[in-house]
Amino acid sequence: MSQILVTGGAGFLGSHLCDRLVEQQQDVVCADNFFTGDKANIRHLIGNNNFELIRHDVTFPLYIEVDRIFNLACPASPVHYQHDPVQTTKTSVHGAINMLGLAKRVKARILQASTSEVYGDPAVHPQTEDYWGHVNPIGVRSCYDEGKRCAETLFFDYWRQHALEIKVVRIFNTYGPRMQPHDGRVVSNFIVQALRGEPITLYGDGTQTRSFCYVDDLIDGMLKMMDSSRDFVGPVNLGNPFEFSMLELATKVLAITQSKSKLVFMPLPQDDPRQRQPSIDLAKAQLNWTPKVMLDDGLRETVAYFRQRLA
Ligand code: NAD
Ligand code: UDP
Repeated sequence: MSQILVTGGAGFLGSHLCDRLVEQQQDVVCADNFFTGDKANIRHLIGNNNFELIRHDVTFPLYIEVDRIFNLACPASPVHYQHDPVQTTKTSVHGAINMLGLAKRVKARILQASTSEVYGDPAVHPQTEDYWGHVNPIGVRSCYDEGKRCAETLFFDYWRQHALEIKVVRIFNTYGPRMQPHDGRVVSNFIVQALRGEPITLYGDGTQTRSFCYVDDLIDGMLKMMDSSRDFVGPVNLGNPFEFSMLELATKVLAITQSKSKLVFMPLPQDDPRQRQPSIDLAKAQLNWTPKVMLDDGLRETVAYFRQRLA
């Protein structure tokens, strides 16, 4: 049994990760400042002997003894990370420095939840890990994109300079139960709008693409990466390679919810990437990982969750 720290553990992905680790009888410490996290996501774990919750902001140092760290703390939705952009950069950069410092002191293995956003609005398609990206350093998404890029830099320098055991995963759009209804990301927006009979808000002409991974698949990949051999540090893409336009996504959500909501077209946010699709050859080869859940099946699960939650 290991002592495992999950930062951002009360968030969407973090809470699913905590569930899986507790199921494996690991000893889990969840640290979260509840900026976008929700106690409801982890309430069922409180009282479990394998689970401990601490309110903590990763921009401040943390002194605990652990064997492994999953560093997920950071708002992920553009609406949330643009709300306080300076704090977003601090969370990625100061947060990484603090968690890497902790890992160095206690000799823990540490995994960084990086993102497909490090590729920016990609000129290479699908995105492979050796692509350096096309990122605006001064735009409204930069606090997140550049913060995450700098965090990757810090991880690799701690690895080269201090021989720290690092793991870096680049997560592509992931969805599923426990996203917040007001999260602002496209899957939760469309489902909530469809269930409420409100207009479906398509930004731009809806032809921009994303590739959506169901949360259970993503957590499998993250756990496999953490358990992989010491010399495989990444970065490795984790995502579902099936690519859809936002118009196709809206059509699927309308069909699954049997909603009569109308589509409305709204201005495209600044620097919104045109297309995004992971190459997952590296994850297949190194981790023997492939996502299994098709978009329609994952959407059905997510719709069922939101139906219950909105009721
Ligand atoms: P989320 O917003 O649901 O979760 C983030 C969690 O971090 C929340 O619980 C929030 O309260 C916490 N947090 C934020 N700032 C903090 C701070 N300074 N100190 C402590 N806790 C803090 O988002 P998510 O979708 O669960 O994303 C989790 C991680 O995965 C993030 O690092 C995100 O960048 C990364 N990621 C997610 C996706 C995705 O599609 N879900 C894609 C790429 C990367
Ligand atoms: N999007 C949209 N309507 C919404 C929310 C988002 O059309 O109500 C679009 C957005 O412009 C982007 C895509 O959906 O092209 C994915 O947006 P999201 O915020 O989920 O993630 P990201 O842009 O970070 O991949």
